[in-house]
Amino acid sequence: MNLSFTKDELAFRDDVRAFFRAAVPADIREKLIAGLHPSKNDLVRWTRILADKGWAVPHWPVEYGGTDWSPVKQYIFTEEMSQAPAPAPLPFGVNMVGPVIYTFGNDAQKKRFLPRIATLEDWWCQGFSEPGSGSDLASLKMRAVRKGNQYVVNGQKTWTSLAQYADWIFCLVRTDPNVKKQLGISFLLIDMKSPGITVRPIQMIDGGHEVNEVFFDDVRVPADNLVGEENRGWDYAKFLLGNERFNIACVGVSKERIRRIKDLASQACFGGQRLIDQAHFREKVAAVELQLKALEITQLRVLANESKRQKATQDPASSILKIKGAEIQQATSELLMDVVGPYALPFQSEEDLEPPIGPGWAPSIAPAYFNARKVSIYGGSDEIQKNIIAKAVLGL
Ligand SMILES: Cc1cc2nc3c(=O)[nH]c(=O)nc-3n(C[C@H](O)[C@H](O)[C@H](O)COP(=O)(O)OP(=O)(O)OC[C@H]3O[C@@H](n4cnc5c(N)ncnc54)[C@H](O)[C@@H]3O)c2cc1C
Repeated sequence: MNLSFTKDELAFRDDVRAFFRAAVPADIREKLIAGLHPSKNDLVRWTRILADKGWAVPHWPVEYGGTDWSPVKQYIFTEEMSQAPAPAPLPFGVNMVGPVIYTFGNDAQKKRFLPRIATLEDWWCQGFSEPGSGSDLASLKMRAVRKGNQYVVNGQKTWTSLAQYADWIFCLVRTDPNVKKQLGISFLLIDMKSPGITVRPIQMIDGGHEVNEVFFDDVRVPADNLVGEENRGWDYAKFLLGNERFNIACVGVSKERIRRIKDLASQACFGGQRLIDQAHFREKVAAVELQLKALEITQLRVLANESKRQKATQDPASSILKIKGAEIQQATSELLMDVVGPYALPFQSEEDLEPPIGPGWAPSIAPAYFNARKVSIYGGSDEIQKNIIAKAVLGL
């Protein structure tokens, strides 16, 4: 298996790198380097820059605004974007509901929703998880009852990321409670301005507001907003979750983070010696770098196999990428805690950053460390990924 890039791919990488160097607004770039989250406005601004270049949805089919890049070129693009660093596009639109709509939706849905997803005119959120239905997602209870040309929706979603900004939510709803649980689920697009929707914030361990509970009380949804066939939503959800897992390895993000760790460790001084010169710290960094290299090679192997797989199926090995990617992101957040040392305290949430006591970069480190715990939960927890690997990769 050849894992090296071709001449053409290397030239493409140079082009993409040059574009990111010139195009990422300085204020957004600085925010990301400091480990802070981009705001809604930052994401909209950045998505419009990508859209002007024709690169907002490169993985989509050309007819819907995508490119004809190979999976390897798309991988290079994502990696270069992470390392620029530039904000990752909002995944709920471009990686999740967009591909579901162009694969399973009807023409009217494609025309109405896809262009607005690509330019972030519509902010989407993901309404899958419910209290008691996270890992066992197919047990979800939120009910949608067809009445004429509408569905009447009642129930609750939870952990809904960034729902406070959302114009639309894509939901899994139960349309038939009397069949095997996977066979009674449908995929519904719901306008967040519909009467009967209430969004309540959940505070995260880092003090920030990233996730929400969303309540639906007799919400009326046009039947035209059903994607594909009624009661086939579980198939569409599996397709969507497969995409989510592949993008979750975040090799480029971790590479950028390690660069930052080395840079800051050469400024930090403990016991009269620069941290970067201390053997125990160098060993820790090297161990994480080795794991990251192994992850990158695994990701390239998954990519090299891509062309052999059936369209719309995912390599179960992407579960390995999800677990290791999460572990490495968490390991880099721990290294940053080593770098910041006592200046990690007093702990402040990102939304409440006061002028720092230590160096200017210090206050964002502890929130980022706590925030990184989430990576081994969302998109399917580590234990669930291990079950997939046991069954589908190891054949146990
Ligand atoms: C920051 C964050 C953002 C999120 N954003 C969204 C979002 O935007 N939209 C959305 O729909 N959801 C979102 N989620 C929800 C996420 O998908 C679920 O949290 C996840 O699927 C786990 O479900 P749960 O929280 O109900 O935990 P549970 O399923 O109750 O699991 C609890 C524990 O039991 C373990 N476990 C469960 N079943 C098994 C099993 N069969 N074998 C072994 N161990 C098992 C799990 O690994 C976990 O450790 C988000 C979660 C987080 C943390």
